[in-house]
Amino acid sequence: MVPSTSSNVAAEAGRRRTFAVISHPDAGKSTLTEALALHAEVISEAGAVHGKSGRRGVVSDWLEMERSRGISITSAALQFAYGDAVINLLDTPGHADFSEDTYRVLSAVDSAVMLLDAAKGLEPQTLKLFDVCRYRGIPVITFINKWDRPGREVLELCDELTERIGLQPMPLTWPVGVAGQFRGVLDLVDGSFVRYTRTAGGATAAPEERLDPGRAEEELGAEWVSASEESELITAAGGEFDAARFLDASATPVLFGAAVLNFGVRHLLDLLVELAPRPSARLDVDERPRALDAPFSAFVFKVQTGMDPAHRDQVAFARVCSGVFERGMVVTNASTARPFATKYAQQVFGQQRSTVETAYPGDVIGLVNASALRVGDTLHDGKPAVRFPGLPSFAPAHFAVARPADLSRAKQFRKGIEQLESEGVVQVLRSDRRGDGTPVVAAVGPMQFEVAAHRLDAEFKSPVKLDHLPYTTVRRLTDPAQRSVVDSGGRSEVLTRTDGTELALFVDDMTMRIMLRRNPDLALEPLVAEGSA
Ligand code: GDP
Repeated sequence: MVPSTSSNVAAEAGRRRTFAVISHPDAGKSTLTEALALHAEVISEAGAVHGKSGRRGVVSDWLEMERSRGISITSAALQFAYGDAVINLLDTPGHADFSEDTYRVLSAVDSAVMLLDAAKGLEPQTLKLFDVCRYRGIPVITFINKWDRPGREVLELCDELTERIGLQPMPLTWPVGVAGQFRGVLDLVDGSFVRYTRTAGGATAAPEERLDPGRAEEELGAEWVSASEESELITAAGGEFDAARFLDASATPVLFGAAVLNFGVRHLLDLLVELAPRPSARLDVDERPRALDAPFSAFVFKVQTGMDPAHRDQVAFARVCSGVFERGMVVTNASTARPFATKYAQQVFGQQRSTVETAYPGDVIGLVNASALRVGDTLHDGKPAVRFPGLPSFAPAHFAVARPADLSRAKQFRKGIEQLESEGVVQVLRSDRRGDGTPVVAAVGPMQFEVAAHRLDAEFKSPVKLDHLPYTTVRRLTDPAQRSVVDSGGRSEVLTRTDGTELALFVDDMTMRIMLRRNPDLALEPLVAEGSA
């Protein structure tokens, strides 16, 4: 047993850095994860985290659907020690069919690393994930990857951050050498040059070679001068490093590197340890902070069913918010006031599971046999009781009318839809206009529909018939009295989500703009996330 003194909990929490990597598919997230873990020596050889063909895969593959596609739909956490710090890297699936699960992971982190491909810059999925970071005020470190290959101009990439997402770049390094002929980086903190060296396959962490500025200029000449001059342009334009602006999420430190060659990765880890926010007191539903050293509390940010096909088990992932978690403790689920036994707490990353004995604020625990737990639930030990705000619903992008394929199973179908909604697998929308209570299911990513269909069939024995609706643009209708305006167009309608939000749906952006032009009073708001969190 670990004595859970206050100072012990505060010190352990202070060592934690809990973050996620947000990126578009192929930007190099798996490669970066491997490289980070390599530095921390969790896994002996780069490649072990990757699930793609040809490499040893430990990426979680639960449903067969996931296995057959060779991707990871689900999220879990990788924990490793780096120096005195304990790093919790939460996995956000990078696949294009990503879902609300991906967003929910961001409710459990204290910071994020935005990973960009140097040749592509900001891509759609990165933007969507960044929106959630912005909504939650999560500080973001930017890592511009693949610098070993021809890419875009550095200044252009920096401008893109300012212009498209209003985030001031604060470069901490600057690439030296023209695209494709990468020499290394200028370290803007101490002015030295860090030489880029290749290691075979990036499989080992290369020793770092540094030159002082004088030597660097002698050796690199014009390339060095141009890097110095360019970087000065950014610092002069408000890009001087300021930790406070990182923490208030108005600016982002930027690093350049090549994950596949392990270049810049140690710098990123050091930066996370030095700069990234530690776990702090989380606000409860009444906006009172729950002190880190209060008795154990955690909230469930993800529930995953059927990870182990042999057992159809359900694992709930919870982030510890206060106190010490000890396996075996019986905690209370604040939503139901029922006890929950934690005998089978695990750490889950990919197929690797290990039993968690003790966890501190910032850590993620996987609770097995968790059919009683829902996304957003709070778990706590003893008194005082605490309840954290539920997780928000995110702006859905896919819509389908859901009907039971077999009408004799209509009752089970209704139960199933209710269950899936309560678990946050899909959102459920309704409209009087659609009559007979036929639900429209809505999702951030289409794969959520597949999961829902699979479960309705397998668990409720009620196969579903989905008729997809053509909507692509969604806004929140702030004045319900204006419902008829949106409903009057043939290419738009208003649906009410179970949480009461009125969603105005349009076939495309143009349809919405035309309607707004004709009805200038129509009050529509962007919808990133709605709810109590
Ligand atoms: P993910 O989809 O974001 O997880 O991306 P992966 O880690 O699978 O990387 C996508 C591709 O980019 C793979 O072929 C990687 O080898 C490659 N890649 C990743 N990082 C780098 C890098 O720094 N330089 C180059 N040239 N390729 C990289």
